[in-house]
Amino acid sequence: MSVNEVDMTEQVSDLELGAIFDKVFDVKEGIRTSKMLIAGKWVSSEKRETFDVRTPIDGSIIFRAQMATPNDVSQAVVAAHEFRKIRDLPAIERIEIFDCTADILEQHKDNLVNVLELEAGKTIRDAEGEVSATIQRLKLTMEEARKSLGDYMPGDWSIGTVDRMALVIREPVGVVAAITPFNYPLLMVATKIIPALLAGNSVVVKPSSSNPISAILLVRALDKAGLPEGCLNILTGKGEAVGDILVTHPKVDMINFTGSTPIGQRISKMAVMKRLHLELGGKAYALVLEDADLDLAAERCVFGSLKFAGQRCDAVSSILAMESIADSLSVKIVKEVDQWKMGDPRDRSVWLGPLINPSAAQKINELVMEALENGAQLLRGGKFYEAYYEPTVLDNVPTYARIAHEEVFGPVVTIIRIKDENEALNFAKISRYGLESCVFTRDFYRMWRVAKSLECGEVTINDCPSHGVGYFPFGGIKDSGLGREGIGYSIDEMTNLKTIVFNLAAETLGKRR
Ligand code: NAP
Repeated sequence: MSVNEVDMTEQVSDLELGAIFDKVFDVKEGIRTSKMLIAGKWVSSEKRETFDVRTPIDGSIIFRAQMATPNDVSQAVVAAHEFRKIRDLPAIERIEIFDCTADILEQHKDNLVNVLELEAGKTIRDAEGEVSATIQRLKLTMEEARKSLGDYMPGDWSIGTVDRMALVIREPVGVVAAITPFNYPLLMVATKIIPALLAGNSVVVKPSSSNPISAILLVRALDKAGLPEGCLNILTGKGEAVGDILVTHPKVDMINFTGSTPIGQRISKMAVMKRLHLELGGKAYALVLEDADLDLAAERCVFGSLKFAGQRCDAVSSILAMESIADSLSVKIVKEVDQWKMGDPRDRSVWLGPLINPSAAQKINELVMEALENGAQLLRGGKFYEAYYEPTVLDNVPTYARIAHEEVFGPVVTIIRIKDENEALNFAKISRYGLESCVFTRDFYRMWRVAKSLECGEVTINDCPSHGVGYFPFGGIKDSGLGREGIGYSIDEMTNLKTIVFNLAAETLGKRR
């Protein structure tokens, strides 16, 4: 594989980021070391300890980042608690800041794409898609804000409130701790901090330590765009060290977490009475019914399984193929998979880059091997080199194999052959996850019946699940989480309702007295 021969160090020192990002980095031995934004200042960690950020492309060090200490965490939270100017800033000025941030990102689009390719191993088209979605999300803030305007409630619809009316307004919850995963290192941070700040909250964000750099660049763009000091802070460091202190800090009012189910469950135990929004793991099933358009189903299921090497919570994780069409679907799937070229993600002809690190490839391989030991058939792939896992197709996967139930988070298309629609629905229902699923059929009645029966937060009909900028709300039930993310819906999660009741009879009473 040619990726072994790439001299990354030389290429990374050439990486152009733009002058506005200079204050975010120190350069030592040709490698940039990022700083953290705490109380309006770009600073090193208290103990000046750093950790290496490696590219999944060849494992070389591309950046270094600060290792936040407990004291750094505390300072960031206290700053967020004390600097509440964002709350008093007129909403229209908040929106201007987001518009200006969108312009900054637009000007540095190519730099951001390059950073995502390097720190996440994203292919050019995946990286471009993520940067565009982030800019689009910033541009949608006016629409997002409109959904938080509150309600006017005349009281004469109920006997006890005839002489009253109420305004139901939304107020910020206070300090939001935003903790994000590695798979969308830029967009996921944006989808949390934009609505949080727009609603008047202050924020402490902790991005994944696998790839924190694009998040730092986004925070710098917001800082440059004029966000008041202290209302947005970014900490870098290892999850287990930073996370527990952040989650339990008495001045953190809400935790908005996206990541794996075990970490989400740990956070929910530690957070006790704090407001929680948890976007956790998923296991999207694709039900392909007898009357489906099989070309469409094969193309969309493969795309849904392999996009960003399957490292997506909404990835198509197992295909439940009705027995009568399974042979022909399987042939079409293999043809589709054969078009996915794997390699260095910076090559535009490559559709499938590396996983986040070699240990992710090993974990996926354990699931694939266990399925094969239990009688599954390997139609393609099944081999890996460091972080690169071949696009893999498993057919005739038994329903008791681990891969039929666990989140895969890798480029594996898993076909489970199922007798009929009812059996497929019953199988999907036993899943511990409830994030997304999809169904392929031409029959409207079946679309509706299956969509109503599946126990999950979102069902897509005749396509694979996909979140895009978050225009439609998404989120999970069961072990997939709590709450909904999306334009306006995220604001609902990050605000408290306050009801202000006006006694309209008071003036009349006064006159009578
Ligand atoms: P992860 O290992 O759970 O990490 C997520 C974040 O939590 C990272 O910033 C991590 O920091 C931090 N963390 C680790 N231990 C912590 C602790 N004890 N307390 C607080 N924070 C802690 O997840 P990941 O591997 O990055 O991401 C993949 C997972 O995210 C998958 O399960 C995927 O399904 C899920 N996901 C869900 C959605 C959704 O919308 N439902 C979207 C995207 C991803 P470090 O990086 O430093 O460990």
